[in-house]
Amino acid sequence: MTSVVDERVTDEVEALVAILMDDVIIRRVGNVPTVIETVVNPLTGEDIDQQYVCVTLVVQLTPNYPDTSPDVVLRNPRGLDDDLIASIHSQIKIKLADCLGQPVVFELIDLIRENLTECNLPSGQCVICLFGFEAGDVFIKTQCYHHFHSHCLANHLISGKKYYKEEMDKLPNWQQVEAPPYQPCCPVCRCVLSFDADTLKKAPPPVGSINAAPFRVTPEMLALQRKMSLLLARQIRRGGVVGSSSPGPRPLTITTAADAVTNGSSQASQEGKSEVADGQLPGNASNAGSEPGSPQGQGYRGPYRGFNRRG
Ligand SMILES: [Zn+2]
Ligand SMILES: [Zn+2]
Repeated sequence: MTSVVDERVTDEVEALVAILMDDVIIRRVGNVPTVIETVVNPLTGEDIDQQYVCVTLVVQLTPNYPDTSPDVVLRNPRGLDDDLIASIHSQIKIKLADCLGQPVVFELIDLIRENLTECNLPSGQCVICLFGFEAGDVFIKTQCYHHFHSHCLANHLISGKKYYKEEMDKLPNWQQVEAPPYQPCCPVCRCVLSFDADTLKKAPPPVGSINAAPFRVTPEMLALQRKMSLLLARQIRRGGVVGSSSPGPRPLTITTAADAVTNGSSQASQEGKSEVADGQLPGNASNAGSEPGSPQGQGYRGPYRGFNRRG
């Protein structure tokens, strides 16, 4: 199918591909470009290590574009808070109105890039310590564009490895051999990371944590604690609590060789247990700790699901 494409659109697409090359994706229906997608970064010269924020610009071309405005979506913002995204959206709206009748994608990229360059520091909090990023903080950007205080990420990686070893030690030898190796991952999106925890650990603790007032229990905290314990009790009654220390059913357990023999297939037994966990009422949960697949009655609670899929 070949349709006549507006020359203004053809020229714009050609220019985008010539300049951005692999960094732009053009989707077409037949020969008609319908969607233009590109990741926008702040301007930092050649130094991509200094780019702490980014966002994916998706421009859906309307049939009469550029005589009608395209639909513009911003996806996967990294290091940008909601207020900034909202501000960029309103600037885009004005730009689209101003540029009606002419190609606008380069203008949009410039507009977003200017905004990102101005606030090329992660906003929001470090999800590990929940303190913000302040002047003097040493932080790191992962390849998935998530940000953490280097100190916090080091602690996360060290405890992740320790937990992996603890879980591994619980497995019989034959399962240890087959288990996937330890893989450090991003605490937000689980993208594989390749940082050295010992190097990161040399960074000072977050400035926010040093300057924070000493911890003390306030009446508000006590009230919140009471409220949360009531909620927890209700969840336990309804059988929806996940965790090894709860008296409720276990959602997943580590299977052993003995378990595989008993059940014929540990995979099937795992799936059976998951179903039970979703629907079981607490009255039926009394056998949860004595399942053959739970070494020392310990429920599986970690992210290393590879263990369960084997055996
Ligand atoms: Zn932190
Ligand atoms: Zn991530």
